[in-house]
Amino acid sequence: MIGRPRAVWLWRRWLATVVLAAALIGFGLQATERREDPRPRIHLADPAHQAPCLLDAREGSGCDTGFIAAHGMTEDPTWRGDGYGLLGQSLPAPAPFGLAVDARNDPVLSDAAGAALLARAHAHEPDAYRLELRPGAQLIVVERRDLQGRYRGLYLDNVALESSVRGFAGPIKLGVYLDEQGRIRRLVHLDSRETPSYLRQVEAAGFYAHFSGLPVDRAEHRVDAVSGATLTSRALAAGLTELVAAAEEPLGDYLAAPPRSFAVVARLSRDWIGHALLLLGLFVLAWQRRWPLSGADWRLHGLLAIGVLGLMLNDAFTYITLMQPFFGVTLSAFATLYLVLVLLGAIWDDNTYCQHICPFGQAQRLVARWDRGSRLSRWPLSHRRMRQLRQLLTLVLIVGILAGFERWRGFELFPDLFGFDSGSLWFLLALFLILRVSAWIPMLWCRLLCPTGEVLDTLARLMRPHSVRIKTCNEQ
Ligand code: SF4
Repeated sequence: MIGRPRAVWLWRRWLATVVLAAALIGFGLQATERREDPRPRIHLADPAHQAPCLLDAREGSGCDTGFIAAHGMTEDPTWRGDGYGLLGQSLPAPAPFGLAVDARNDPVLSDAAGAALLARAHAHEPDAYRLELRPGAQLIVVERRDLQGRYRGLYLDNVALESSVRGFAGPIKLGVYLDEQGRIRRLVHLDSRETPSYLRQVEAAGFYAHFSGLPVDRAEHRVDAVSGATLTSRALAAGLTELVAAAEEPLGDYLAAPPRSFAVVARLSRDWIGHALLLLGLFVLAWQRRWPLSGADWRLHGLLAIGVLGLMLNDAFTYITLMQPFFGVTLSAFATLYLVLVLLGAIWDDNTYCQHICPFGQAQRLVARWDRGSRLSRWPLSHRRMRQLRQLLTLVLIVGILAGFERWRGFELFPDLFGFDSGSLWFLLALFLILRVSAWIPMLWCRLLCPTGEVLDTLARLMRPHSVRIKTCNEQ
């Protein structure tokens, strides 16, 4: 417990709270996946033989564009208003010319890209169908025909596409099979840098099945995002939307109408409200001073945190959540509440999250308390040295992530531990760290390796009078 802070420290805390509120309002509460600025692919044209030409639909333009106005064209809505249009006017050319794009060098439309696409189409659904490439303006798709030559649908993926959609840790490569009517039969995850446990969570929640039967049409469709893997599920939906838009031109040949407004949006189901109340309850229990909790009560509280946030939701707060808004990601309502509670806990209560809420920390704490006999009597690193190493690691990770090393975001064992995938090396490592290493050296991960703990402890220290000493994870 902290003592009554002097006025200056109180002001500091209020200031931090106001900054937090202003940042939240600034970033907004609307949930969306991250998109980078579109990277246009520009094919150079020869401007020497074209010049802008202002067309006047009412009086005639007086310039030759090479186009012939069809009957009724001037009634077209696009010609209304001022009745002007801008087209390229053909200039006399010394010889016939055209624009040529060498598709062999285009990473999206090249022969190599087509061959790889065929291989993926077959690999994920090996059957006796005949596969044929159908190039479009921006993307090649694969047409699937049965042995009688009947059209059986399409396969397309975004592997060659330069995607602007980002999940938790970069772009997600996905493929989609369409049936003869243009409905989604199957969405497949091909490759990404997402934390494996998030991907498993998405799969275990049956997220991919939500897409089955959706028509690739003009409508916007909504699917439930997976709580605890919201960014990954949103990015999958947004990636599919982007893929269909890129394949609009060949798809239009197969569908009744081009899929111009097709979109899939993944939003959290209303379950998040119940989850939010549970999360709020954990923080309120830790913050309230009316009924002081005994040591046994705190252990029960720790078990509750493990049960709710670890086993039930597998939803960790990490320093990455703090960075997401700066990457252009606006957080879901649940993630925003999580972030607000964690930061308020660091500003006003000396890091409530690390002390009482974080299931990964609580699991280490419980094991260290339960298995005191295994504790090493000597450990070469002092608290101070471990703290310095943790600071250095945190700095390197943050700078690396900001510099574009997205894979570094995966430096986090929490989701792997509560993912319970016994075939995963990360799960086994996390389990070993909790069950054995925590007993040998209590809270080793927290004290030496956890960047989230470093960020929150630093914030808590900045808010705390120098005279007040608090035992944090780093000082067990
Ligand atoms: S230091 Fe990291 S793992 Fe430990 S309690 Fe804090 S956030 Fe959790």
